[in-house]
Amino acid sequence: MQKINTIKAIKNWVEFEKSRGKTIALVPTMGGLHAGHLALVDLAKNRADKVVVSIFVNPKQFAKNEDFDSYPRTLAKDLEALKIKKVDVVFTPNATQIYPKDMVFNQAKFSRYAYLFEILCGQTRPHFFYGSIQIVTRLFESVCPDMAVFGRKDYQQLKIIKKFTSGVKILEMPTVREDNGLAMSTRNTYLSDSERCVAALLYQTLQQLAAGKLNKNQAYQVLEKSFKVDYLEILDGDTLIKINDNTQKIAILCAVFLGKNRLIDNITYRLSAKVFD
Ligand code: AMP
Repeated sequence: MQKINTIKAIKNWVEFEKSRGKTIALVPTMGGLHAGHLALVDLAKNRADKVVVSIFVNPKQFAKNEDFDSYPRTLAKDLEALKIKKVDVVFTPNATQIYPKDMVFNQAKFSRYAYLFEILCGQTRPHFFYGSIQIVTRLFESVCPDMAVFGRKDYQQLKIIKKFTSGVKILEMPTVREDNGLAMSTRNTYLSDSERCVAALLYQTLQQLAAGKLNKNQAYQVLEKSFKVDYLEILDGDTLIKINDNTQKIAILCAVFLGKNRLIDNITYRLSAKVFD
């Protein structure tokens, strides 16, 4: 496994591999790797000849009052895990390369679809998806992969990336969970043991809502007993707008606060067969 730090070097490596007819999959991460990230790597390995995992804690995904400084940085452990997975390259660029001073981000070009950036998580974290699209665009420009893998855990982010990137096939990985159902997340390390037990109620409640055992108001009330609810929405899973006559897929999306920590989760299913994705 090679560790590459510069855009120039990753471009050269990819160019060489492509010249030998190899396909390249990119798995973008912010490090602090867990089994969810490693499942993305497995999917990438299944689909492409060569796998690049990027590790970059993207400052643009953090507001000033958020945890950029304390975000779990576990590079040595991450490299160990990726080596065991036989990843080809770990790409660890620095912020100066990713965001050179003269780089301009034209947010206006997304104005027609601003709602996608501003609903759900975008209400509490208005900077977040503009940060995601910038880093993903820069990584795609830098690595030029044939495909890239993202998790459905970050469903809104996945939708935005699918809509606003082109030329790279986007592969989706279902959410990987702890035994109690809690969606794995780097930030789960912030939770105490007792909070981890409480956190499992989030997915359990979404499951009951999806199964029709609770309606939306009841689910909201159940969640409110354990969390401060940020949002609970049931939307068209393809467009993230209100359910309508063309809706084929439902997305139940939720964010809650547990103490200082914010948890997100979702369940999606096709209306026709009620098959869970
Ligand atoms: P992050 O390092 O949190 O930016 O996440 C990197 C990628 O891993 C994103 O595509 C996430 O959606 C994905 N991911 C994070 N947690 C999970 C999980 N529990 N299951 C599946 N994918 C995940």
